[in-house]
Amino acid sequence: MSAISHNLQAVRDKICAAANTAARAPENVNLLAVSKTWGADAVLEAVRAGQRAFGENYEQEAVAKMAAVKAEQPELALEWHFIGPIQSNKTRPIAAHFDWVHSVDREKIARRLSDQRPANMPALNVCIQVNISGEDSKSGVQPKDVPALARAIATMPHLKLRGLMAIPEPASEPEKQRIPFAQIKQLFEQLRAQGFELDTLSMGMTDDMNAAIAEGATIVRVGTAIFGQRQYDEK
Ligand SMILES: *Cc1c(COP(=O)(O)O)cnc(C)c1O
Repeated sequence: MSAISHNLQAVRDKICAAANTAARAPENVNLLAVSKTWGADAVLEAVRAGQRAFGENYEQEAVAKMAAVKAEQPELALEWHFIGPIQSNKTRPIAAHFDWVHSVDREKIARRLSDQRPANMPALNVCIQVNISGEDSKSGVQPKDVPALARAIATMPHLKLRGLMAIPEPASEPEKQRIPFAQIKQLFEQLRAQGFELDTLSMGMTDDMNAAIAEGATIVRVGTAIFGQRQYDEK
C-alpha cells in the first residue's frame, strides 16, 4: 500500500470515529483531499485509493494539474474545489475549471464568477467564507454581513449557494476548537431558517477535523494528513 492510500484510509477511519462519537452518519461527512503544492502523481495515487474530490488554492497550479491528471485518466470524473483566496483577475479560469468555490467573500467576486461561468456548465457550487475568529485573519465575511451576501448570491444565475466555509484560528485544545465551529453552525441554521436551502458546512482540517465534525461539518478539507508535510511554503 502506498503512503497516500494508507493515510487516506486512516483519515477515513478518523472521520467515521468522529461521526460516530457525534451520533452522525459518517456518509454525511465528505472528505476533500487538499492537494495544493503536490503534483498530479500524488492526485493519481489518491484516485487509485478511491478519492474523487480535490481542493486547490492556486489557480495556475491547479489548472496545470487538472490537465496532467486528465491526460493520464481521460475518462475519470473528478470534482475540483477552489479553496484559496480569490483575486478578481483569477475569476475567469476559476469559473471555467472548478466545480466548487469555498472562498467567496465579496459580492464583486461572486458576480464575476457567475458572469464568467461558461454557459454549457452547470451552476458553480459556492460557499461563503466566514471570518469567524475576528481581526487577525484577512479572509472571509464578517458574520453580520453574511445574510446580505447570501441574498445577493441567490440572485446570480450561474451560482448555486451551498453553504458556509471557515478557517478558524488554530487552537490546540479540542474544546476551544469547537467554539468557532459552533458559531458557524449557528449562523448556518439562521440562514436556513430564513429560507436559504443550504446543505454544506466546509470546516475542519488536519488538526481540527474532529472538533469540526462534532459541530456539524459536512466537508472536511484535509491536506497534510493525506499527502504529508507540504513540499514548499505557501505563496
Ligand atoms: C491548506 C488548506 C487546507 C488543508 O490544511 P491541512 O492542515 O494540511 O489539512 C484546508 N483548507 C484550506 C483553505 C487550506 O488552505
